[in-house]
Amino acid sequence: DRGPLNPQEAHDDAIDHALRPRRLAEYLGQAKLRESLGLYIEAARRRSEALDHVLLFGPPGLGKTTLAHIIAQEMGAGLKVTSGPVLDKPGDLAAILTNLQPRDVLFVDEIHRLSPVVEEILYPALEDYALDILIGEGPAARSIKINLPPFTLIGATTRAGLLTSPLRDRFGISFHLEFYSDAELTQIVTRSAQILSTPQALEGAQEIARRARGTPRIANRLLRRVRDYAQVRGNGEIDGATAQAALTLMEVDQHGFDGQDRKLLQAVISRFAGGPVGVESLAAALGEERGTIEDVLEPFLIQRGYLIRTPRGRCATELSYLALGLTAPKAPGE
Ligand code: ADP
Repeated sequence: DRGPLNPQEAHDDAIDHALRPRRLAEYLGQAKLRESLGLYIEAARRRSEALDHVLLFGPPGLGKTTLAHIIAQEMGAGLKVTSGPVLDKPGDLAAILTNLQPRDVLFVDEIHRLSPVVEEILYPALEDYALDILIGEGPAARSIKINLPPFTLIGATTRAGLLTSPLRDRFGISFHLEFYSDAELTQIVTRSAQILSTPQALEGAQEIARRARGTPRIANRLLRRVRDYAQVRGNGEIDGATAQAALTLMEVDQHGFDGQDRKLLQAVISRFAGGPVGVESLAAALGEERGTIEDVLEPFLIQRGYLIRTPRGRCATELSYLALGLTAPKAPGE
């Protein structure tokens, strides 16, 4: 159990709904992505065309689903949401595609988990807005072609490398979502507190942002728990001290680590002498899937300088020793 810091767990209730940005201008952070995407949307709108297909990749909780909603909204188009594992048979996908209106957006989460037969019928749909359907069996079988309205597919995945290259090549637009800086998360928490009508001091927002693992979903979840604490133990306002007390009570780490991050660093340091250690050995030591280590755990630790990836494997850094309250070993000759 990864507790309050689990970025993968997405229960979507009324408050989650209220906190989700609706327009590109409300989407904070990811400055480069926002600028390019705004431009592509504007161009497609002026030409009255469907936006090119968009691939979004990056760890969970960084705002991929949110972007799909925003794109549909900005295009003035409808949105259908589904996911790779749900589209079991080619007919499931065909049913969705043939019900789209011109310029509609179809969001497919975990698109790397599409079955090969489903992926196959997606190719002509993406390229020519057409479906090739085989009807009948044996010598009587024939293929019929169904034209589709122009539409936009938005595919989301944790890592672009998980996609087959024919699928990846069919996306005209592709964005890598990055972990958010503490300053960006502070803005997100500030906006969320306003929506929840919760008085909040800047230090309170900063305290939450620092411990949110670079992830908006976690920041909003922590804000909600700190808000509860402030209401019951304080006067309702989230100031620095209240945020700190609440987060300490919740045992949320001051580095924004969750239990798994901590375990991973501990393993590299104590079982593999600080590394280098290969991802397979690390996965075995943690009882965790290799994919989770590569797509969810590592990217954050690497981005924040707690782990480095070398050709021979992963290595702990001085920062990670410090974070675990240990002293880094001296390099030979020091
Ligand atoms: P993903 O699909 O990548 O797992 P979501 O789009 O579901 O992530 O985002 C999780 C939550 O975080 C959203 O409900 C939204 O409230 C918040 N969020 C994500 N990105 C942003 C952002 N750039 N600005 C403000 N809030 C965001």
